[in-house]
Amino acid sequence: MDREDIIEHLKFAKELGVAGVSRDPAWRAREQPSEAGTHMAPEPGAGAKTIALAAVDALAEVRADIGDCTRCKLHTLGRTQVVFGVGNPNADLMFVGEAPGADEDIKGIPFVGRAGQLLTDIIEKGLQIPRADVYIANVIKCRPPQNRNPEPDEVETCEPFLFRQIDIIKPKVIVALGKFGAQTLLRTLEPISRLRGRVFEYRGARLVPTFHPAYLLRNPSSKREVWEDMKLVRRLLAEP
Ligand code: URA
Repeated sequence: MDREDIIEHLKFAKELGVAGVSRDPAWRAREQPSEAGTHMAPEPGAGAKTIALAAVDALAEVRADIGDCTRCKLHTLGRTQVVFGVGNPNADLMFVGEAPGADEDIKGIPFVGRAGQLLTDIIEKGLQIPRADVYIANVIKCRPPQNRNPEPDEVETCEPFLFRQIDIIKPKVIVALGKFGAQTLLRTLEPISRLRGRVFEYRGARLVPTFHPAYLLRNPSSKREVWEDMKLVRRLLAEP
């Protein structure tokens, strides 16, 4: 990391409520993910490459199955395109949001608007992982009109595709973003304020709910809790 990166990282940590740093080695051991941490790019070697390509192909198959989807009413309600997901098909870390917004609907990529920029900062400046090394998807693949909450029939129709994405990527850790993402995946009505800060077992991964970046834009003081959740994510990624 060069000086500019360190300054950016410290600025972002401060914004998230970090009050100080320590040079105590014990503290460092607690904070740093191990080499096994965040990864992503396959190890060199034929075996790893085969696995990487298998995941790429399998995700392409899911995308092809979705097609120009007409399974639920959202295709008649103004969506431009299906927003499938983006990132490393072999990611250790996956983020799951709610549904595409206006910017995502235009670009066909999840989390590219204002909330997306904040999510990118959380990933790159907070977790110190390039955004391209994680995988990002939504529960719902089409934009609901006026960004309303997805409806139960839409979730029921669309979530099997998310499940297939998770089963192919096999992330070590899933971060469920916001009330909707967390409640849908965990089949619970518990509020996000009670779900966050905890770790759930989910489809072979550890699932960490946290506040949605769009909520953070409206409630910046909650960035402190998200920072705590991201430290938890780093610890889980570092586990063998
Ligand atoms: N909010 C989400 O939940 N998903 C996106 O892709 C963008 C905003």
